[in-house]
Amino acid sequence: MYADLTPEKLDNEIVIIGGGLGGLTAAFLLANAGRKVLVIEKKAYPFHRVCGEYVSNEVKGFLIREGLFPHHIPHADIHRFRLSATDGRQMEIPLDLGGFGISRFALDHHFYRKCVKAGVDFLQKTQALDVHFDVRKQEFSVDLDSGERLQSLFVLGAFGKRSKIDRAMNRPFIGQRSPYIGVKYHVRTDHATDTVALHNFRGGYFGINQIEDGMANLCYLGSSRQLRECGSIRKMEEKHLFTNPRIRSIYEHSEFLWDKPEVINEISFAIKKPVENGVLMLGDAAGMISPLCGNGMAIAIHTGKLAAEAVLQNHSVEKIGRAYAQAWRTSFQGRIAIGRKVQALFGSPVLSRIMVDMANLLPFLAKKIMKHTHGQQV
Ligand SMILES: Cc1cc2nc3c(=O)[nH]c(=O)nc-3n(C[C@H](O)[C@H](O)[C@H](O)COP(=O)(O)OP(=O)(O)OC[C@H]3O[C@@H](n4cnc5c(N)ncnc54)[C@H](O)[C@@H]3O)c2cc1C
Repeated sequence: MYADLTPEKLDNEIVIIGGGLGGLTAAFLLANAGRKVLVIEKKAYPFHRVCGEYVSNEVKGFLIREGLFPHHIPHADIHRFRLSATDGRQMEIPLDLGGFGISRFALDHHFYRKCVKAGVDFLQKTQALDVHFDVRKQEFSVDLDSGERLQSLFVLGAFGKRSKIDRAMNRPFIGQRSPYIGVKYHVRTDHATDTVALHNFRGGYFGINQIEDGMANLCYLGSSRQLRECGSIRKMEEKHLFTNPRIRSIYEHSEFLWDKPEVINEISFAIKKPVENGVLMLGDAAGMISPLCGNGMAIAIHTGKLAAEAVLQNHSVEKIGRAYAQAWRTSFQGRIAIGRKVQALFGSPVLSRIMVDMANLLPFLAKKIMKHTHGQQV
């Protein structure tokens, strides 16, 4: 137990670093349980972020139960999956669980507003630079880019796949370079509302699905080497993505809604720890599943739920950390590892052809592999 340390003696009871879906879910649940929560977010809502914007239905029941489901946003209901090899040959199967398409701009903003209503405090346009846990005092301190230092009983790390704070915390993966970039557009195009499609190209893969307001999301995981060699996103797309005729056709028949895409680099799928120095890591900060599985957002939301439940146990930081790490490993470790293996088949002409041919021949096997990257409904 945290003995004589009470929230009143500290600035904050719970500080959450990062306000993506993982951090916001935890903040919402903890505030609804009567806890004092502060979210530190380096950007200001609403904003776009690189993501395929297909949310797996494994969290739909949970979102409905908690009053977080975005009923008022006319999202796309998705229950079919299409896959093409680099040469354009393709397969299509129904999705057992399915999902929904919605922009992060709308979804994260919706979660943010729900959090504000629940009483969560926010420091936006503020970056956390470092965090320390004082074992003797059982107290965290968080250093901000404003020069301020916050004290709290708990810290949740929900700062995504890669952040400055990873370096300050000496997390081993941060020294490893990653060869992946992510690129995202919103477009208007003729794409079936009920279908999410993944198209391979040499060196990566490209996804498309409808979101809200008649818009579609185009998003791909590409190679930073190809971008360097080509010198620009457009040249890289023409040279590498367009070798798949299906991707070329999508570009030729779409109205692009932004002048330039959202781009991120150094997307790491390295193994991380779910708890570091007493900080419970949520979503991508604990480990990122391959985007082709289409459930990184669902996992982030699920980790937010698990972390909130762990904190609400009112045990010591150490005991909560052990319980959360155990729950995290049981729920996500295996799925993330399978996702990593499946991703290795993508972006190669030979392997992607074998994959599509195999899925056409043995659709039940393709469904089985997909099932292994998804969890139970939350
Ligand atoms: C190319 C690509 C496509 C994807 N497609 C899909 C998909 O279709 N479906 C799906 O489910 N998942 C997809 N994902 C994965 C999904 O985007 C992530 O798993 C999910 O966003 C993780 O949520 P999070 O809350 O952990 O982190 P994030 O959503 O990344 O949020 C982290 C937040 O922390 C903030 N932050 C970072 N550092 C600091 C700091 N030091 N101080 C304060 N704030 C900080 C950031 O600004 C950000 O708002 C995709 C990922 C990529 C790269």
